[in-house]
Amino acid sequence: TTTTERHLYDVVVIGAGGAGLRAAIEARLAGKRTAIISKSLFGKAHTVMAEGGAAAAMGNVNSRDNWMVHFRDTMRGGKFLNNFRMAELHAKEAPERIWELETYGALFDRTKDGKISQRNFGGHEYPRLAHVGDRTGLELIRTLQQKIVSLQQEDYAETGSYESRIRVFQETTITELLLDGDRVAGAFGYYRDSGEFLLFEAPAVVLATGGVGRSYKVTSNSWEYTGDGHALALRSGATLINMEFLQFHPTGMVWPPSVKGILVTESVRGDGGVLRNSEGKRFMFDYVPDVFRKQYAETEEEADRWYTDPDNNRRPPELLPRDEVARAINNEVKAGRGSPAGGVFLDVSTRLPAEQIIKRLPSMHHQFKELADVDITKEPMEVGPTCHYVMGGVEVDPDTGAAAGSVLGLFAAGEVSGGMHGSNRLGGNSLSDLLVFGKRAGEHAAAYVDTLPRRPKVSRVDVAAAIEVALAPLVRAQGENPYTLQQDLQAVMGDLVGIIRREGELSDALKRLADLRLRVANVAVGGGRRYNPGWHLALDLRNMLVVSECTAKAALEREESRGGHTREDFPRMSPEWRRLNLVCSLDEAGGVHLERKPVPTMRSELLALFDRSELAKYLTTEELTGLGEE
Ligand code: FAD
Repeated sequence: TTTTERHLYDVVVIGAGGAGLRAAIEARLAGKRTAIISKSLFGKAHTVMAEGGAAAAMGNVNSRDNWMVHFRDTMRGGKFLNNFRMAELHAKEAPERIWELETYGALFDRTKDGKISQRNFGGHEYPRLAHVGDRTGLELIRTLQQKIVSLQQEDYAETGSYESRIRVFQETTITELLLDGDRVAGAFGYYRDSGEFLLFEAPAVVLATGGVGRSYKVTSNSWEYTGDGHALALRSGATLINMEFLQFHPTGMVWPPSVKGILVTESVRGDGGVLRNSEGKRFMFDYVPDVFRKQYAETEEEADRWYTDPDNNRRPPELLPRDEVARAINNEVKAGRGSPAGGVFLDVSTRLPAEQIIKRLPSMHHQFKELADVDITKEPMEVGPTCHYVMGGVEVDPDTGAAAGSVLGLFAAGEVSGGMHGSNRLGGNSLSDLLVFGKRAGEHAAAYVDTLPRRPKVSRVDVAAAIEVALAPLVRAQGENPYTLQQDLQAVMGDLVGIIRREGELSDALKRLADLRLRVANVAVGGGRRYNPGWHLALDLRNMLVVSECTAKAALEREESRGGHTREDFPRMSPEWRRLNLVCSLDEAGGVHLERKPVPTMRSELLALFDRSELAKYLTTEELTGLGEE
């Protein structure tokens, strides 16, 4: 027999990274009883791993910076496929959200005159990333948790209970959303340690579950990132957009094999690190695409001068957006100019004095010493691309975070949502995204609850069905091993839906994924429900699978190369394709359905922020004609 613990909340936030915590704070500030659920230990979300910083046009280091420049950079980085309204809100509101963090107790690194310091990063025209050494995510999470504790203390003073309005359920995985007609009615899941089930009855759910990287073998993501929120959204009738766009970060560790994929922060390049191939050549000068030609240095001398005199020199090509750098590295290695372990060399040792490296990049120094026995103050690092971030995600209303599709009461924020970053995210734009859209989702989830005439009801039949699905891998006497299935899935995605894609391979991937779908439906694990990681993986697999199907299907459909989607057989950006989002939904039988939908047209005052000559690189002739004469 199974018992299911029952909890009643107004807003349930799934995910305790930056987006989830910021959403929960806002829902609680709006007076809502709020639950925060996290698959891992509280405080150990991806957000804590963020190194470089949070992008916000505060203009502290270069006063020319403002939201319009940030907006432009974000749209360029995403190759104009971004939801412009999200990019606009993000650029406008990020500074406020950073300053607000200071009122919660955050301590950012300072400029000489005591303002929040800002560092350079790829694709950002001016120094823009607020940071704490290379441990910015840790400070962000620490501060948001501290704010939650302080709200709990206020609640204690008023009600006698710390958890009367905001409670954290850690090491708890949600496996299903429950609906009442077309409205969210709750969420179902299990405690990872005991395996006991829980039911949350709540009229509003905020998805803040982060990314999907674990569908790839070489990834900077940790074990939790199995696309749960993406899959929960799909199964409840919401839609995903842009799933073909995955960011392969150019610099992951490539050696030793056991740590392959672990991130090497872009700050290394922002602070002066350069990329060289086995011939010692700074190869990035050969890879500046036409659309970026004007903004990047053409000689090493100019690139080097930029670090001290950015107003009169153009930036080094090592700081191109990530998709460009990842493809360049991939190409160098393929052409036989790679490092011994199959990457390229990233060198900061000849560029900065040792004490500066240790001060500015303490985690990197430690990471390479501990994991690879490399002293980055003396030797170059070996690096190569690693699956890092998913641009695609839940299709949302830009202002409220409400999920599009047929379901009401579902909101999404942070990496699990799509649109904001278009086809490629700029570094540092995620941490600010979490704060801006986390706050908005929390606020609007709370407002939604106030509009309801009655609380939606969870049906017993649905709970029984959720229990049955959860128990199935344990009940099945014989079947597929979840670890083998995960490896097979990773092989399909890494080999056939990786950085460089081709029609034949993508079609092959879809066939293999269809086969894997049958095998995943037959997954079996031994043992019971008490802490059983095999069982947990068995339940995650169906999420990874459906999300991978969306990615492969959309990657086959989009016949162009843009940002985090490169087709060898369609190497150019197509202005026609720029006008289209690919939207994934599930049909009645649970199959992935793909639809083309127009990308919203940018408002004219935002279009006016770009030169016509730049727009001409992205827009169709028809769109340009529509803009009138210059
Ligand atoms: P996350 O922080 O990923 O949190 C997701 C939460 O959801 C977790 O609590 C998880 O346990 C929970 N969860 C997931 N599934 C379930 C489920 N089924 N049930 C219950 N809970 C669930 N971005 C930047 O802007 N700047 C940087 O410098 C930077 N550096 C990075 C370095 C690394 C190594 C990595 C991996 C990423 C980096 N990023 C950076 C990206 C950024 O950190 C992430 O995109 C961002 O933190 C995602 O935040 P989030 O709140 O959306 O989700």
